[in-house]
Amino acid sequence: AGRTGGPGHGGVSLLVIEAGTPGFTVSKKLRKTGWWASDTAELHFDGCRVPVANRIGPENGAFPMIMMNFASERLMLAGQCVAIAELAYRESVAYARERKAFGKSLTGFQVTRHKLADMATRLAAARALTGECVQRVLRPGGDMQAAGLAAMAKNTATDMCSFVCDQAVQIHGGYGYMRETLVERLFRDARLYPIGGGTREIMNEVIAKTEGY
Ligand SMILES: Cc1cc2nc3c(=O)[nH]c(=O)nc-3n(C[C@H](O)[C@H](O)[C@H](O)COP(=O)(O)OP(=O)(O)OC[C@H]3O[C@@H](n4cnc5c(N)ncnc54)[C@H](O)[C@@H]3O)c2cc1C
Repeated sequence: AGRTGGPGHGGVSLLVIEAGTPGFTVSKKLRKTGWWASDTAELHFDGCRVPVANRIGPENGAFPMIMMNFASERLMLAGQCVAIAELAYRESVAYARERKAFGKSLTGFQVTRHKLADMATRLAAARALTGECVQRVLRPGGDMQAAGLAAMAKNTATDMCSFVCDQAVQIHGGYGYMRETLVERLFRDARLYPIGGGTREIMNEVIAKTEGY
């Protein structure tokens, strides 16, 4: 998005800026904690000249489009958290059944069973809220509360995913801290979700606004 009009949200347009446009540069690949399957770099736009044909939507009309995109992006991120947590949970159940300590499998200890039960419960709750929000946002005519609902789903799912992945590493013990395990990777990947696509704190600001205080 670029400023094409006056100050505030009514003065911004969406533009396609093609690779090779003079003034457009991409930084070297940044090294990240997780999400290694997705390259991340900083994009710099310095005095780029963009033809009118490269504008998406009406002039100075970017803001509503960005807002609508945020709602679907945040629901998609919530869905990703549910999927990551499901994977971490299944890995943990399988490992807890297989791993023996003090003469019995980890599932033989009530503390492990209760850890798994808490993971399953929070996962089910986040999946249900995310599913309900997706239905309400996609309903014909949309839902006026879409932005707030998407923010609620994102915060619920990211909190749940962080909790489940942390517990998954704990259940795997020292093995869970090793690069060779899936849960170690999921734990690192999960850390992005309360930051990317709007931070947890900004989601609460969105919720407060749509709730009217
Ligand atoms: C791996 C990765 C991929 C990314 N991909 C993209 C991408 O594809 N496209 C894109 O546009 N961006 C992308 N981002 C950027 C991402 O959206 C931002 O990092 C995120 O929105 C937070 O902004 P910030 O880093 O500037 O943090 P800051 O705004 O500096 O925030 C720092 C802390 O202060 C808090 N804070 C800031 N303002 C307030 C406030 N008003 N009230 C309360 N608390 C506040 C934040 O919640 C946070 O805890 C990516 C980031 C990462 C790490």
